[in-house]
Amino acid sequence: MTEVTYERECRTALFAVARAARLCRAVQREIKAEVLAKNDSSPVTIADFGSQALIVQTLAQAFPDDPILAEENSADLVKPENEPLLSHAAQYFTRFRAEEPREPKAGATSSPGDREALIRCLDHGAADHGGSRFWTVDPIDGTKGFLRGGQFAVALALIVEGRVVVGALACPSLDYRPAKAKPGTLFYAIRGAGAYMISEDQARQANPAAERIHVGDSGELRFAHYCESYDPSHSAQDESATIARRLGITSPSLRMDSQAKYAVVARGEADLYLRLPTRKDYREKIWDHAAGALLVEEAGGTVTDIMGRPLEFHHGRELLANKGVVVSNGRFHQAVLEAIAEQR
Ligand code: AMP
Ligand code: MG
Repeated sequence: MTEVTYERECRTALFAVARAARLCRAVQREIKAEVLAKNDSSPVTIADFGSQALIVQTLAQAFPDDPILAEENSADLVKPENEPLLSHAAQYFTRFRAEEPREPKAGATSSPGDREALIRCLDHGAADHGGSRFWTVDPIDGTKGFLRGGQFAVALALIVEGRVVVGALACPSLDYRPAKAKPGTLFYAIRGAGAYMISEDQARQANPAAERIHVGDSGELRFAHYCESYDPSHSAQDESATIARRLGITSPSLRMDSQAKYAVVARGEADLYLRLPTRKDYREKIWDHAAGALLVEEAGGTVTDIMGRPLEFHHGRELLANKGVVVSNGRFHQAVLEAIAEQR
């Protein structure tokens, strides 16, 4: 029997998130900052839709039989009142599908064919259940960070028999380390083959060389750094501060949006990522964790929910069997779970 290596899947995933990240950055650059700041939902939606359609198009071409569970669909976009949005998203989609995207001419519009292609790709990603092999996509993870000029990520993962086997994460606002001229870092992992990062710029060169990453080796909790959501409605920050104190952690939390948190734990910049439920009824979404979780595990870390259970990715679009998330360099995991149990 030939061994399944998932190398082609990983290469395809990395290409897809890198291209989608370029689209997101263009939306950020070209749509006026004040519109973004006003929290007008349209620019976000343009980038979300454009990013998802690009990724789905790549996957559908390379792996036509694989179901795709992506965050967005076209239901709102096709409403007559959203015609300008649809047209604008289709423009970005068409532009970034091209091998050498060019800046559009002033007043350029999208064709009906462009719009149809966008809708078709979006909805190809709207599966509810994946079965034994499927992809999950977050076209923009950390939308609020995207708006604020903070962190955001484009996340893609392949799940086979309930296990994440490939993860790719583009973090367009995260520095490569040591910092290169421009921010933008890509991360990827194949189960059993390690976790890697590469700067976005370098990934576009002829012979890109990725760097293997590892979680930090700090064994002392008092020197640990922990990260959590920027948005207090996504993770109970007061509670994590109490738990950190209980564990003897002295430095304040690093707050950032998106799965960039998984990336910073995977490369040893932080030792812990706590995601403590703010509501009893909230269920985490699979696309918010699949790629990041594999990255950390392949970098030598541990990922569970707050009860210490492994994350289960085979229940459809949500992590139905889990509550919250705890990510660590591995060494601290048990101590952190115990502190959470005592606290709760
Ligand atoms: P983060 O940037 O880590 O704060 O996470 C962003 C993600 O949080 C979004 O993609 C949402 O899917 C998810 N989210 C929305 N509401 C909640 C909630 N109440 N608890 C946890 N996560 C949430
Ligand atoms: Mg998300």
